[in-house]
Amino acid sequence: MYVGGFRKLFDYKGYVIEKVRLTEEVAQVNLRRDRRFTLTCPHCGAKMGKNRTSRQTARDLPLGPARKVILVYEAIQGRCSTCDSFATIRPPGIPEGGQATWRLMSFVSCCARFMPLSRISKLLPVSTATAYRWDKKVLAAELPEPNLDDLEVLLIDEKSIGKHHDYVTVVLDGQTGELLHMAEGKKKKSLQSFFDRLTDEQKSVTEAAAMDRAGAYKEVVSEQIPKADIVFDKFHIIKNYHDVIDEVRRQEWRAASEEDKDLVKGQRYNLFRKPDNLTEDQKRELEELLEVNENISTVYVMKDQLRKLWSYVRPDRAEQYLLYWRQLAKKSSLEALKDFADSLLEAKEQVVNHFRHEITLGPLEGFNNLISRILHRACGYTDIEYMFLKLRRESLAQS
Ligand SMILES: [Zn+2]
Repeated sequence: MYVGGFRKLFDYKGYVIEKVRLTEEVAQVNLRRDRRFTLTCPHCGAKMGKNRTSRQTARDLPLGPARKVILVYEAIQGRCSTCDSFATIRPPGIPEGGQATWRLMSFVSCCARFMPLSRISKLLPVSTATAYRWDKKVLAAELPEPNLDDLEVLLIDEKSIGKHHDYVTVVLDGQTGELLHMAEGKKKKSLQSFFDRLTDEQKSVTEAAAMDRAGAYKEVVSEQIPKADIVFDKFHIIKNYHDVIDEVRRQEWRAASEEDKDLVKGQRYNLFRKPDNLTEDQKRELEELLEVNENISTVYVMKDQLRKLWSYVRPDRAEQYLLYWRQLAKKSSLEALKDFADSLLEAKEQVVNHFRHEITLGPLEGFNNLISRILHRACGYTDIEYMFLKLRRESLAQS
């Protein structure tokens, strides 16, 4: 069989095509060592002696209708007398111990960006488990290390992953949205391991760190970057406020008549979502509820009022507004709302810090969308290292 045209497709330096065998579904390409090339030691580059040759195989990219392509090649085990080491020579692009060429693994990794791992086996003869292994390997090799210099603003958050309410701690670069750190749990040590990687100089440039009021992060941040301002940002405060809505909603549901229970039921997300994101039906449901239930209506309206806080630019004006909002809250008879207002005022400094720094929450919100999408695609692989790599790739693509 004439193999000349294939040379460009299987252009492995030091190897030539010996033969190509094609069936409808499988292509087998045999490579043999090109005798014109001398064997050189991969460690020191000196000429190397050959001890023995063995036949090995590696999977490669699909070729025409043949989805399964197998390279059969001579692996040459040699010994370098210059640096006294052993080495195995393979066609370039086949990693050590590799059952596949790097270009096939990269292709699988690329597919894994856009479809769930389980779907890849419909496209290529690769099992889900193999696709997972390859994707992880390619990401680990190709993604740059996190850039830990010039981190002026940090966004710190906890995220729930998996089915068992496992949490991870994440740190993003507040300016670029780059995912810098991800560790199991939401305790002090989950964040401490991030700061352990920073030098004193790298720590000294951080001006602000945004986070949730609850949780263990505040203490670590005050210890590690004492000069940085702690910011309780809009995103987290609104999230906290949703707990107030939830509590009032549950109270009202318990107190409601059978008929009114139906009205309260199923409205949780209508109350949380921005009005713009509701369908016409959802809007109507919500309006009906707000009309008949005064307490739910109050917490809902107060959320709208709270949001207005972040339309301020000047810290002093924002502080005034916060005081005003608390007064409004205190006029209600809802304990959950009043308690929330008090706790917010207690954290006044950290809330107002938002207006002293350029904190944009785009990266965090974008990241939240990302995490649910990626979790879905990784289909059940709750491997934190893998999640980190996948999220990191997307966070870099965004910035
Ligand atoms: Zn050597």
